[in-house]
Amino acid sequence: MIVSRSDKQRTKGIARRLETWFELEGRPFPWRRKSATNYHKIVCEILLQRTRAETVSSVYQDFFRIFPSWNKIANASTEKIEKSLKPLGLWKRRARSLQALAKVLQKNRGRFPASREEIDRLPAVGQYVGNSVELFIHGRPLPLLDINMSRVIERYFRPRKLADIRRDPWLQALAKIIIARGVDPVKLNWSILDLGGTVCISRNPRCNACPIRKGCSTFKNLD
Ligand code: SF4
Repeated sequence: MIVSRSDKQRTKGIARRLETWFELEGRPFPWRRKSATNYHKIVCEILLQRTRAETVSSVYQDFFRIFPSWNKIANASTEKIEKSLKPLGLWKRRARSLQALAKVLQKNRGRFPASREEIDRLPAVGQYVGNSVELFIHGRPLPLLDINMSRVIERYFRPRKLADIRRDPWLQALAKIIIARGVDPVKLNWSILDLGGTVCISRNPRCNACPIRKGCSTFKNLD
């Protein structure tokens, strides 16, 4: 068993408290609006890798005005995509991988494959984006496990054993269990990401404002 029974037990109740907290404290990023389509969400998840959400938010409107669909990205010149992504950094690489994915989706008439094996074969899709495709497109409760989410989980439970988040089987399995407990797995993902971005921050976490301090190992050890 990768995740012990007691760890599983400790995941109970976290989801409800985080989802309630998110209703009041969640950050209103544009890709979270009701008007955001799956196209907007997946493009943003690709752009959010190694980039602050606030930075992606700042280019959101202009980018999607110029590129309102996968087809527009597929048919654009790479230079035009690069220009739009310049404020994010790594724009050449991002433009190339976004366009490679857009070209595959153009052939598939905008449809993502259903199986994880096929999703993993798509360009620009690593573990994090693969999970986001399963979550947003197919409604499967998978974690958007990045550095923020891993910090929250590790502080609540204990540090992971492996340096690479993507390869730590305990952290991966535990994150899946937590997300599967959500009434709304998308909002639960966002709530953990927001907690990691605003309360359970890397230096000096604001534990007194944290909705899951009861039960958190780090908080308990502060006494
Ligand atoms: S109580 Fe503190 S350390 Fe624990 S999850 Fe909340 S903010 Fe992070």
